[in-house]
Amino acid sequence: MFVILLGPPGAGKGTQGALLSERAGLPRVATGDLLRTAVRHGTALGKQARTYMDRGLLVPDEIILALIDEVLDSPAARDGLIMDGFPRTVAQAEAVDARLAQRGRQVDRAISINVPEDELVRRLLGRAEQEGRSDDTPETIRRRLAVYRDQTEPLIGYYRSRSVLREVDGVGLPTAIAARIDEVLRS
Ligand code: AMP
Repeated sequence: MFVILLGPPGAGKGTQGALLSERAGLPRVATGDLLRTAVRHGTALGKQARTYMDRGLLVPDEIILALIDEVLDSPAARDGLIMDGFPRTVAQAEAVDARLAQRGRQVDRAISINVPEDELVRRLLGRAEQEGRSDDTPETIRRRLAVYRDQTEPLIGYYRSRSVLREVDGVGLPTAIAARIDEVLRS
């Protein structure tokens, strides 16, 4: 089963991705985590990515497409994958579709986790204090939400037209949201 978790920054994709990964016995891959590791290790990819991440912008598709190929080609992703934070643009979504189609597979579900904007800002500011992520400042938070609306939200229509979109309310206890996700995965 190939599942995409869609939603703005702060929607809880990481938390729900980890919980779903355990329940479904499938690996969770987050491009944001892969990029942060590359930044920490000071690799060429990390150096390139950092300039975008620190400003709250998306890392350009040509960099991400190579990363997506690597992820989808890895043996760990053979039976399925929980995709957290990618695809994030239509070009990335088309790349995922093409890669999976080559293996006779497809995206089975894209789950949009919906959370009102004021709640997102509150969560992201809280995370900034706790985790000290360099892209969780008030200015980059606003930019990341705008980038989500401009570049990633169109994916909701993209997956709806392919009949794999399901939406869940992302406000509430993590266990309650996990139960909502299980329900829409069955539908
Ligand atoms: P995240 O942890 O998913 O919020 O990602 C943190 C940052 O990494 C984003 O603000 C982007 O700069 C970058 N990033 C992560 N995933 C992607 C992606 N699929 N496409 C472009 N940029 C990404």
